[in-house]
Amino acid sequence: TIYLDNNATTRPTPEVLAAMQACQDEAWGNPSSKHRVGDAARQRMNSARAEVAALLAASAAELVFTSGATEANHMAILGALALQPQRRHIVSSLVEHPSTLLLLRHLQAQGVRISWIAVDEHGQLQLDELAAAITPDTALVSLMWANNETGVVFPIAQAAELARQRGVLFHTDAVQAVGRVPCDVAGLGVDLLSLSAHKLHGPKGIGALYVRKGIKLPPLLFGHQERGRRGGTEDVAGIVGLGVAAAQARAALPRMQAVSALRQRFERGLARLPQVKINGAGAARLPNTVSVRFGQVHAELVLERLDRLGICASSGSACTASGDMPSHVLMAMGMSSEQAVATIRFSLSRDTREDEIDAVLAALLQIVQPLQARAA
Ligand code: PMP
Repeated sequence: TIYLDNNATTRPTPEVLAAMQACQDEAWGNPSSKHRVGDAARQRMNSARAEVAALLAASAAELVFTSGATEANHMAILGALALQPQRRHIVSSLVEHPSTLLLLRHLQAQGVRISWIAVDEHGQLQLDELAAAITPDTALVSLMWANNETGVVFPIAQAAELARQRGVLFHTDAVQAVGRVPCDVAGLGVDLLSLSAHKLHGPKGIGALYVRKGIKLPPLLFGHQERGRRGGTEDVAGIVGLGVAAAQARAALPRMQAVSALRQRFERGLARLPQVKINGAGAARLPNTVSVRFGQVHAELVLERLDRLGICASSGSACTASGDMPSHVLMAMGMSSEQAVATIRFSLSRDTREDEIDAVLAALLQIVQPLQARAA
């Protein structure tokens, strides 16, 4: 199998799996228990918290473990509204992940005003629109760092600065960026940041929200755990898995240069096919993501043939792949629905090899041209 769907999820490393297993065997206590069995669990959880903090250049006390980035995004957005009940406006973008987008649509139906910042044809954020949208009524600006479908990277430091100057809290959904590009929360200037373990070779169902020191964000789930910020007995093994994944991602960050070079090799190869268009090619992008279309050949036809050859890629995103709706991200970039449903996403990892990229290119050379001839 050649797995190029790392924006959907990544393979947990052997070290992550071993640490999780060891945790269930040796440190299965409740971290709130004041005895040695509880201490063992608490110690491992604390080490994991320190590792995640190191990956973000944050301090451990600024992290709240959650069930994943969906929960972290909810905690950031609902928490910002609850913290400032007099402010009923949120600024976000048209290309957010469904975990943000659908929550904001729900809030909009409840009377919260939402400003949806547009992107240009390259998927780039319209910063001037952002600056104009922030008002004294704004509770939060929430913008993803890197897009899961296209890999386009937003200028988060600049966006956060615009919010900061206006005294408005800033949240970023950093799920696709953390572990792939260097992250320093102070340098970025963000107040809140969501991450998910399963996008950095950790387990599913665990993530974290970074909450900058001094922000008293109210909880979604009440209880005494996580210093009152997130109730519920902790998923200690999941947290331990996240901790190992974070440490490994930090050590492997220099390897993302090679991933970027592989991505460029892939794109040079793709350019040999007729009618190839790389979405977001004019924008800053993640080292690992290629969003491409081959004329108007439907993505499903290509993906089915790739799958038969053991090659895993995706149309748009796994989250919307079940629906038949053309991607809201690609439509926001001004594509027609025919162009949007023709889009295939290949997402590499630090484990992707050059021979795999070459094999996928060879397969595409075989698959795409007959389909294009049929479509013509
Ligand atoms: N935000 C982005 C940008 C994502 O790609 C994902 C995962 N598809 C999420 C949020 C949701 O993360 P989780 O699966 O941990 O809830």
